[in-house]
Amino acid sequence: MSMIQDKNLTDITIEDLMISSEKVAHVQLNNPLEHALLVLVKSGYSAVPVLDAQYKLVGTIGKTVILNQILGLERFEIEKLSDMQVKQIMRTDIPVVSKENTFMEGLNAIIDYPFVCVADADMYFDGILTRRAILKHLRRDYYSTKNNTIQ
Ligand code: AMP
Repeated sequence: MSMIQDKNLTDITIEDLMISSEKVAHVQLNNPLEHALLVLVKSGYSAVPVLDAQYKLVGTIGKTVILNQILGLERFEIEKLSDMQVKQIMRTDIPVVSKENTFMEGLNAIIDYPFVCVADADMYFDGILTRRAILKHLRRDYYSTKNNTIQ
């Protein structure tokens, strides 16, 4: 199998660059917001994928939406963290790419997001593609194939 370093940009697929599902922190639909906030704070990530009981992708949830949800007039209404579930406030209108998609398709999908989710046609979760992975690869390709030097 050829190494990703040896491939032309046009031959690279999202599978070559994605973080695979077993290495991705996620939460589940029915988790209380408290659990989601714990996962987010402990991992240091701003948002993570939401999966259902069959490990199908259903959305994403981030710190900001949780904190906005529990923000009262004068205090954080902490009790809401255990009363509410991820499915009530998760984001569902998310871009999804497939691992067979090309590098350019991944680049287009990632422009407005720090990461996008990767899933198959049945929405089984395969992993995530981060903007960092796309940018790092673009930089490597720029310097290696064009004989460019750091300015
Ligand atoms: P990074 O490019 O590493 O800064 O990641 C950008 C965003 O992608 C993070 O803030 C998270 O929302 C998400 N992310 C990156 N790596 C993971 C991971 N292993 N598990 C869950 N989410 C991740």
